[in-house]
Amino acid sequence: MFSKEFQHKYALTDQGVQNTKKGTLWTVVVNLVVMGGMGILYLLMRSFMDTLTDGAPLPGAVLPVLLVVLFVLLSFLTHLQQYKATYGLVYDEVRDTRLTLAERLRKLPLGYFGRRDLADLTETIMGDVNRMEHVWSHVLGYLYGAYISTAIIAVCLVVYDWRLAIACLWGVPVAFGLLFGSRKIAARSSETTKAAALQVSDGIQEALENVREIRATNQEERYLAGLNDKIDRHEKITIRGELTNGLFINAASVIMRLGVATTILVGASRILAGQIDFMLLFLFLLVITRIYAPFDQSLALIAEMFLSQVSADRIREIYETPIAEGAETFNPQGHDIVFDHVTFSYGQKEVLHDVSFTAREGEVTALVGPSGSGKSTCARLAARLWDVTGGAIRVGGVDIATVDPEVLLTDYSMVFQDVVLFDDTVMENIRLGKRGATDEAVLAAARAANCEEFIQRLPQGYNTPIGENGARLSGGERQRISIARALLKDAPIVLLDEATASLDVENETKVQGALSRLLRGKTVLVIAHRMRTVAGADRIVVLENGRVAQQGSPVALMEQGGLYRRMVELQNESARWQLG
Ligand code: ADP
Repeated sequence: MFSKEFQHKYALTDQGVQNTKKGTLWTVVVNLVVMGGMGILYLLMRSFMDTLTDGAPLPGAVLPVLLVVLFVLLSFLTHLQQYKATYGLVYDEVRDTRLTLAERLRKLPLGYFGRRDLADLTETIMGDVNRMEHVWSHVLGYLYGAYISTAIIAVCLVVYDWRLAIACLWGVPVAFGLLFGSRKIAARSSETTKAAALQVSDGIQEALENVREIRATNQEERYLAGLNDKIDRHEKITIRGELTNGLFINAASVIMRLGVATTILVGASRILAGQIDFMLLFLFLLVITRIYAPFDQSLALIAEMFLSQVSADRIREIYETPIAEGAETFNPQGHDIVFDHVTFSYGQKEVLHDVSFTAREGEVTALVGPSGSGKSTCARLAARLWDVTGGAIRVGGVDIATVDPEVLLTDYSMVFQDVVLFDDTVMENIRLGKRGATDEAVLAAARAANCEEFIQRLPQGYNTPIGENGARLSGGERQRISIARALLKDAPIVLLDEATASLDVENETKVQGALSRLLRGKTVLVIAHRMRTVAGADRIVVLENGRVAQQGSPVALMEQGGLYRRMVELQNESARWQLG
């Protein structure tokens, strides 16, 4: 019952399976204890009846009172254990699942995050786990417990009187058959509901992202009408789904209860025929109400169990995506970066084809090429943010695919376009470069990155909090903070996306000054956008459509002609045009 398949299906951890076993066991015990209570009631009734009908002496009060007290005590203790084993342990399971998911996300290759965005992953860690929590706590233990205890009780009933037992129990398999039969319909409606919900959230997200364009082009009304349609559709589909589910669940519940009627019918006819006495029918009627109770509890939730599959699938997908792993040690001989016949695909689409070049230590290697030619992809691969599809990338002779990404990255500084700043003080944002760096070291790095003057203008200097993602800083200031971080880290390899294009001239000179300090003596791989930087590089790799079109020193490439020279000439022309 609790196989690997079960664990897989409900996205449980190993401990979760153990907990479900415990929950099931205690549910069985609770159900049997409650049944025992019915037994006590039956015995008491029986002795009363005997007194009434045969004039037998009334039994003393001591034994019944003792029995009742014992029952109450036992019932309390077992319910407590059941509660602990179902609800209590599930809190641990929820915590463990969220931690495991977060831990895995940390180790997943970056490529994964292109496929599922932040909102989607947050929804899995919070929403999907929440939905599963309900299933883990309210459904699994109760349902499986009910199966087992009902089977035990059913055997007893059959031994007692098989005809009455059938009259009493036939509804249970029929009801469950109906429910499981309707599972396909429920799953389909769950999928359409989810798709409709996704359309609504996509619509809203689209509006938030494009609010400026929508306003600027007077599209607000048209846009809102479209969103309204989506929301209406979602509402209709949800209601229809709930109705369908409700219909099946209630039908199942009614069918199960028909068992009471058939028991009375069969029982009455057997009493009339003198085959059983009234007390036996009474016993069956007592038992029957208790058999339905645990199923009733789980029936309402069984739809949730079916629907939970979508959530379980989404959780499992994170569990099952291979993580980027590798050795915990990284001892390269120097820090030359060698691309050795590298190919790479995002999913199906191959974007790098047989790329080979070397970025030497102590040199600046510039990647140039038209937009979409694969420059950023090369830079990301060099830091193992993705793994290559073919060929290899070696740093100081070590294949980086064999090194744990976290260990590998201690040798890298990355100054990319999208600088991530955290909602903390300026000081702490720079200190991120090197955990445990002293305040003096942070100040020195900030000074070297030309941050000092703008930081001093902030209301609380270094202790000024930066709004979420650095909203209070300009693009150039943010980039200088990221350079300060890199200076502080002082890693032997620097990957740089030279996104200075958007900066004003003053800012740009400052960023350039900071950069030249950062780059001294390092292995530098720079995604170059301006030919000025390119001319200062030691080595240039020209990419075109994911292939190396040319490589060599700037002077050699100018002489060679081709794409590089065309790009230089084009930029010079546009520069002249701007001045003119
Ligand atoms: P460049 O930096 O030279 O502009 P990129 O390396 O960003 O080029 O992109 C190279 C190719 O890979 C482009 O065709 C681009 O559309 C594609 N690409 C880039 N990033 C992704 C991604 N996350 N998923 C799928 N395709 C991508």
